Amino acid sequence: MHNHLDASAVARTLAPDEPVILNRPLAAARAARFFVEKFPGTSLYAVKANPSPVLLRVLWDAGITHYDVASIAEVRLVRATLPQAVLCFMHPVKPGAAIAEAYFEHGVRTFSLDSQAELDKIVAATADREGRPAVDLSLCVRLRVSSEYAELSLGAKFGIDLADAAPLLQATRQVADCLGICVHVGSQAMTPFAYVQALERVRAAIVDASVTVDIVDVGGGFPSIYPGMEPPPLEDYFASIHRAAESLPVSYSSELWCEPGRALSAEYNSLIVRVEKRRGKQLFINEGAYGALYDAAHLGWRFPVRALGGSHAEAQEDFAFYGPTCDDADFMEGPFRLPADIAAGDYIEIGMLGAYGAAMRTRFNGFGTGLVEDVCDEPMASQYIGPRRDPRVSDNVVRLR
Ligand SMILES: *Cc1c(COP(=O)(O)O)cnc(C)c1O
Repeated sequence: MHNHLDASAVARTLAPDEPVILNRPLAAARAARFFVEKFPGTSLYAVKANPSPVLLRVLWDAGITHYDVASIAEVRLVRATLPQAVLCFMHPVKPGAAIAEAYFEHGVRTFSLDSQAELDKIVAATADREGRPAVDLSLCVRLRVSSEYAELSLGAKFGIDLADAAPLLQATRQVADCLGICVHVGSQAMTPFAYVQALERVRAAIVDASVTVDIVDVGGGFPSIYPGMEPPPLEDYFASIHRAAESLPVSYSSELWCEPGRALSAEYNSLIVRVEKRRGKQLFINEGAYGALYDAAHLGWRFPVRALGGSHAEAQEDFAFYGPTCDDADFMEGPFRLPADIAAGDYIEIGMLGAYGAAMRTRFNGFGTGLVEDVCDEPMASQYIGPRRDPRVSDNVVRLR
């Protein structure tokens, strides 16, 4: 792997026949430091957004000590990469064997759950040989909250309803050393109000159950910047969360956690693709729906694009992309705005693919391979540079509703 100036330099030097993933470690480190310094609590990196071991080390070096893992393979990967990291197993439905391996072999003490059955499973899997229950568990009950302010819902699958939460919170309190409540407002939450509303539900759950809560975990959902999706600054989210969390009926020593995946990884990767064929306003490129462009195909998500190298026409037009596999589903509608004269053989950089992009690649149909290179220019958009609004002014984001 080499360190290049930017995507144009990579395309010029390598003239790659396959797509190239570009890493921007400086951008990921900047995002991590931002959360470490400004989030009013502890930030867990949600590993599923991008499990690259290189990225994990960048985040660790920038101060991220806690990692949200969801499968035993993620537990093993992060433990092997970062021996000192605190791992939190935050999938509410886990195999018993995975819980036991995480607890006994990898030092995991924090688990999430959203049912009595999962609580029973955790207690059984972490008991010692004589059947004595573990006394050092941090157990986070996942509460269902609305995903209405997010671009991608996480509201249907997991989480116990507020109406049913009290007995589960009380039962969990009985066996947990630390009791937490966790939520997820959905990914790419476009307003801080999503968190304020979720924390109102957390308040109701605590009051209903009359339990002492040690951890409040607001989950992921912190947005990045994509075409047509420009969220308020992250400072506004942190200020709203801080204010709402401060007023919760929790113990003085309680901790505030968050689990950013997208916000810590989106700026880390972009991708160089090559146009293999042009058919009118459709470009056939060598990456697609079964690769890093999963969200572009399946969610209609738009990503920033730019033509690399050469001299292109000033005029721009809207294009759609076809990926490399043999089926019609490998289609990204966009629109992606590129020079009107773009043609077969041209290279394009597609930005903001560090979260749920690079991680989504499969080998379907023989594609999904290629080089990985480091670049040192800025990502195509950033939450972490540029003018910042006075947080007192943009507090209005919350009050508008
Ligand atoms: C996916 C996920 C996250 C990360 O969400 P982002 O929207 O990427 O920040 C955090 N926590 C849990 C439990 C998740 O499933």
